[in-house]
Amino acid sequence: MIKYPQLKPLVDDWINQFLENKELINSAFNQYGSPINIHFLEPFIQNYHEYLEVLQNHKLDHLVFYARKANKSKCFVKSAATQQFGVDTASFNELNQSLEIGVPSDRLVVTAAVKTEELIQLALEHHVLIIVDNQDELAHIEMLCLKGGHTAQLGVRISGFDWNGQKLYSRFGFDITSALAVVKEIHSNKCFDFKGFHFHLNGYSIDQRVQAILQTLDLSELLAQDGIETEFIDIGGGLLMNYLEDEEEWIAFDDHLKKSVLHKAEPITFMNNGLGYESIDEKLHGCLKTYPYFNRNPKSVFLDGILSQMVKGEQKVSDLLRNQNIQLRMEPGRSLLDQCGITLARVISRKEDSNGDLLVGLEMNRTQLCSSSADFLLDPIYLPNSEGRKPRETSVYFTGAYCLEQDIILKRKITLSVYPEIGDMVCFVNTAGYMMHFYESEAHLFNLSTNLVASKDHTGDFTLEED
Ligand SMILES: *Cc1c(COP(=O)(O)O)cnc(C)c1O
Repeated sequence: MIKYPQLKPLVDDWINQFLENKELINSAFNQYGSPINIHFLEPFIQNYHEYLEVLQNHKLDHLVFYARKANKSKCFVKSAATQQFGVDTASFNELNQSLEIGVPSDRLVVTAAVKTEELIQLALEHHVLIIVDNQDELAHIEMLCLKGGHTAQLGVRISGFDWNGQKLYSRFGFDITSALAVVKEIHSNKCFDFKGFHFHLNGYSIDQRVQAILQTLDLSELLAQDGIETEFIDIGGGLLMNYLEDEEEWIAFDDHLKKSVLHKAEPITFMNNGLGYESIDEKLHGCLKTYPYFNRNPKSVFLDGILSQMVKGEQKVSDLLRNQNIQLRMEPGRSLLDQCGITLARVISRKEDSNGDLLVGLEMNRTQLCSSSADFLLDPIYLPNSEGRKPRETSVYFTGAYCLEQDIILKRKITLSVYPEIGDMVCFVNTAGYMMHFYESEAHLFNLSTNLVASKDHTGDFTLEED
């Protein structure tokens, strides 16, 4: 039997401790069905404090917003409110719920790609900062300000930064070349109150963020000459996170996948899916279209990398921000949710397909573990539901409940240490950021998965409650 490459995930202690509570988990399955998402707030608070420490070390005025689109659960919004950091909202419901939970207006921001009238109205009534994206939006906001006698607090989203002579394309925001004119127009309009700049970059390059900050600082310097103050620069989210224990496993997996795609090694993915690689005339094309699950500069290291970069005559990026008296804002989603959630599902069937592969049916569908990435590249934790099972290495694919040939939960073949049985459980770790909710659908009228919040009582035992 070939050795399928492993990708061992980083697993926070609470997860291992929680998984020892088989009875609690089984009773949750009996009550709520499968799959179940379990959330835990301690790592969320820890992740926030890691960012805070970097921002404080750089002596920056700062405000962190949790980008709540990465997870639907209310528990994280409540926690942000208690810990006194902010929440980035992307829809009417997200904003409305955050207000109801009690997040103060000055720690909320609306970055929604589409701003409906009711969303703008709600933001105006509560003096919540709106990040504007285009002229039509600006006109809509102005109209509602005039109608209701409001003043809009505005940030201006910009894009199109120059990077090594290339423009960084984004469909969002005003092009940087028009930004000065837009801010001057906002400044001269009594309905508006210009507060600062915002951007959010795709990709995970420290240098691109640095260049974007520098070009935004140039803008605010020019505006200052006209007496227009920039209170903050918001660098958005997309701060890297690391999911994996071992870089060598990550490299070995990538090597093996490429060989498989070129038919020089046995497939390690369902139907030899290249996850972005393809073979054309026996040559390798394309690139791995997954999140960079392993990386060495996660979270606060990434942020520190941006702020510590030396620029313009031996100054750090953070020095420039401080010298211009500008508050640094950021909107991490995924990285604040690092180690905050797991997804549990039950095994309901097993069968061998005509290729000789063992397909293990889970009571879930692929939209319940799905992001824009080509696959979720973490080995799950397998939990046999009976004691004393004989070890028996078995390599399987996990399949889902949608009547699609493609409803494969993980495209990778996974090696289990036992032969799977009905009622066993599979735990997918670190799924809170995007994986569990972002693309979840109700096709076939399946219920959405249940979201539970785990806490430890005074004896250290876990309890569960509905989100
Ligand atoms: C998605 C998004 C974020 C959060 O991005 P993460 O990758 O989850 O950190 C922040 N700001 C804006 C404007 C976004 O669209």
